[in-house]
Amino acid sequence: MNHPVLDHDVLVIGAGGAGLRAAIEASAQGANVGVVTKSLLGKAHTVMAEGGMAAALANTDDRDSWRVHFADTMRGGQYLNNWTMAEHHAKEAPARVRELEAWGAVFDRTKDGRILQRNFGGHRYPRLAHVGDRTGLEMIRTLQDHGVHQGLDVYMEHTIVALLVDSGRVAGAFGYDRERGRFKVFRSKAIVMATGGLGRAYRVTSNSWEYTGDGYALAYNAGAALQDLEFIQFHPTGMVWPPSVQGILVTEGVRGEGGVLLNKEGRRFMFDDIPDNYKSQTADNEEEGWRYTQGDKNARRPPELLTRDHVARCINREVKAGRGSPHGGVFLDIAWIKKKLPNSAEHIKRKLPSMYHQFKQLADLDITTTPMEIGPTTHYTMGGIRVDGDTQMSTLPGLFAAGEAAAGLHGANRLGGNSLSDLVVFGKRAGEHAAAFAKQHGAAKIDDAQVAAAETQALAPFDRGTTGENPYAIQHDLQAMMQDLVGIVRQESEMKQALEKLQGLRARARNVGIGGNREYNNGWHTAIDLPNLLTVSEAIARAAVERKESRGAHFREDYPDKSNEYATFNFVIQKAADGSMQLSRVPIPPMPDELKQVIEENK
Ligand SMILES: Cc1cc2nc3c(=O)[nH]c(=O)nc-3n(C[C@H](O)[C@H](O)[C@H](O)COP(=O)(O)OP(=O)(O)OC[C@H]3O[C@@H](n4cnc5c(N)ncnc54)[C@H](O)[C@@H]3O)c2cc1C
Repeated sequence: MNHPVLDHDVLVIGAGGAGLRAAIEASAQGANVGVVTKSLLGKAHTVMAEGGMAAALANTDDRDSWRVHFADTMRGGQYLNNWTMAEHHAKEAPARVRELEAWGAVFDRTKDGRILQRNFGGHRYPRLAHVGDRTGLEMIRTLQDHGVHQGLDVYMEHTIVALLVDSGRVAGAFGYDRERGRFKVFRSKAIVMATGGLGRAYRVTSNSWEYTGDGYALAYNAGAALQDLEFIQFHPTGMVWPPSVQGILVTEGVRGEGGVLLNKEGRRFMFDDIPDNYKSQTADNEEEGWRYTQGDKNARRPPELLTRDHVARCINREVKAGRGSPHGGVFLDIAWIKKKLPNSAEHIKRKLPSMYHQFKQLADLDITTTPMEIGPTTHYTMGGIRVDGDTQMSTLPGLFAAGEAAAGLHGANRLGGNSLSDLVVFGKRAGEHAAAFAKQHGAAKIDDAQVAAAETQALAPFDRGTTGENPYAIQHDLQAMMQDLVGIVRQESEMKQALEKLQGLRARARNVGIGGNREYNNGWHTAIDLPNLLTVSEAIARAAVERKESRGAHFREDYPDKSNEYATFNFVIQKAADGSMQLSRVPIPPMPDELKQVIEENK
């Protein structure tokens, strides 16, 4: 083997919020830490997060507490959540927000100088600490500043293509530098997978180019278990027009600030369908909904702020019934608040600056005067690498996971704002436990044969050259297929068709070819990402076929109701010895009485 070998106690794959927080913590525990990222430092997907991070600081409403946050998260996840994680998350998020503040994050303020919190779907009280609608940018900037002063080694524009294992534990990773196309071996005692999600498996998505499901596939190929992949969140409000920007997110913050959803008849259709388990918490008239968004503690939230899965399906229903907007969505109107607030245009620009610019620049539309056209967009992966709720270690010893790469916290549906807090709560935990694992276990051996096999596979598209299959064409066909057959509304026959089509796409992917050389070759990068996208797509489709009910983000036209039979286990996916994908039902451990009581008291 003639590749450079780089040694670290802990290797963090991913430089988003989860990866950076893990790296900071591992480093604080005395570990020598390397961070690998496909993009430049500061450009990870987290930078796109808009609305805020959920934490029961109780600054804006003193009735909030970790107990209400825990109950909201469990209800939103339809009780498939890993309740240990939900408890840690609700209890520790406030400390992680204050820590960011101490490290320099400049959150928006209440009049008396505390961190301001805003309303978001599914959260009973205003809970999202935010920086306008650029919260992710501030989080990344803060973590990056703090992290680089701790002496992390950062490998920017590097892609990991395989994990290396030794006697049933992680030994390192193999990757390449995207600019020059040269390979590197990372030898490390523990690894934190913080690679984010997989939205690029779908045609319409809010996710960045980095989201090709690499972390899930890397972990799966190395023997770790995945969980809950059927739960893909379709965010209700993505741009639908013009086509070049379809899928780009419109933050839930718009609805939190009073934005309403209208069909082409101008009717607020969200009032038509309020789920029973949210009825007691939801306004039954427009006036009450408006008062809620303006901080009236005696008002209940408007139905636009119900959970994302429900809002997305209601929009889908309006469009299907022919009551949609001209370009296949519905209207999201914040301009109407001019009837309520003087200087509404200035208010909107101050509260939602990125949204104002996004629509002005990309759609030539002024949101202070005109309703936006929006529709559902693939947004978030609730499932992912199965982890221990306390340590974040996966089922493969030495491999940890945090952030969107990990499963458990969100169950069947994530509440908005619960991801940014997830990143820092579990990033910290993963970093701490990875450093402890590295200390206890020392280095594992790198197997040259594994490195050689990964290298051969990575270079194979060059051997076939331009006579092979075009990677972009396969990716395009995969995205269209997943969008049509395993999308927001699902049914058995279509998903079975998807599984068949996946076999065909896999066969084509085995024959993928590219021209040119290894220096910044985007075709090559796409060819390398393809098997990951195919693996995660298969995992989604297999789990979705098996879950014969509708729950959270998973909606089956052929099984439209929730079923008790599916309420007590998670679907876990592993690679069998013969290379096939195996699905099993793993029971959720019984919840302690104390937590049951917390849920009961917040019903
Ligand atoms: C537009 C938008 C707005 C959002 N707004 C909010 C919000 O307001 N509040 C909220 O809570 N959530 C929000 N979310 C969700 C949230 O932003 C993400 O879930 C979260 O940022 C994911 O962070 P992460 O650290 O897990 O991963 P990321 O920030 O995505 O980082 C992943 C990292 O892994 C790297 N990587 C991936 N594969 C490889 C590989 N093979 N080799 C090397 N490196 C690799 C990437 O380069 C990147 O550095 C939003 C999402 C979107 C798309």
